[in-house]
Amino acid sequence: MSSAGRFAPSPSADLHIGNLRTAVLAWLFARSSGRRFLIRIEDLDDRTHDDVAQRQLADCAAIGLTWDEPPQWQSAHRERYDAVIGNLVDRELVYECFCSRKDILNAPRAPHAPEGAYPGTCRTLTDAERAARRDAGRPPALRLRSDTAEHTVVDLLHGSYTGVVDDFVLRRGDGVPAYNLAVVVDDAHSGVDQVVRGDDLLASSPRQAYLAGLLGYPQPVYAHVPLALNTDGKRLAKRDGAVILADLGVGRAWELITESLGLPAADMAELLQRFDPAMLPRQPWIYRG
Ligand code: GLU
Repeated sequence: MSSAGRFAPSPSADLHIGNLRTAVLAWLFARSSGRRFLIRIEDLDDRTHDDVAQRQLADCAAIGLTWDEPPQWQSAHRERYDAVIGNLVDRELVYECFCSRKDILNAPRAPHAPEGAYPGTCRTLTDAERAARRDAGRPPALRLRSDTAEHTVVDLLHGSYTGVVDDFVLRRGDGVPAYNLAVVVDDAHSGVDQVVRGDDLLASSPRQAYLAGLLGYPQPVYAHVPLALNTDGKRLAKRDGAVILADLGVGRAWELITESLGLPAADMAELLQRFDPAMLPRQPWIYRG
């Protein structure tokens, strides 16, 4: 399968100008490196809505993105995720976790345990302890039994990046496959070997790349691009005024995106000619409306 890049929005809200900018960058990274470009709707969460997803696709098309296959929907891939979890279970790389968020926050941790890492509370439960917790009624999440504390990825903007790999969740207690699992499985299934997305997800990439390795998938190359922020330095959101395409109009949105990238407001084809990842701004984009 030929290699691909992708844009993978969660349909929880309309794409704002910062999301559209990330989508344009993902397209430029993929096309400028001769890759196919794909779109995947990450709709595993029940907060998500089909009408929002349809508007996201329409907005991507309106801004000039093209994709090479019909968009994929994660909710259609449940069997695929179950099969992968089954494979990891067979290899004894999965355990049940009964911890609530509060349990995790309050758990004693080793002095140098990395921030945000699961403290391993349920890793060594005996069969009897597990049965007792199951009887208490809390449905378990499934966690990966990881044999490392960190992993290094290559990021085109951040260089070599080493981050935490803990026993992260593969399937939530409510039965929904976890983001880290779904993203890795779907990227590998579609031949995605270049992951361009917001830099709020940089810290997730070592976990994802480590899981990819366990599953025998190739390691993707990453480009975590700076986010769009409002003038208070907070993530851009709907309350920041005209931030979605329906309010801005395609012409104005395009002007804003290209200007923020230091590129002329030319069409996609010309932008592609001029695109040079080395010239990309490394700072967050402050959106002033
Ligand atoms: N669905 C995620 C989001 O909208 C992006 C996941 C990814 O690109 O890996 O934030």
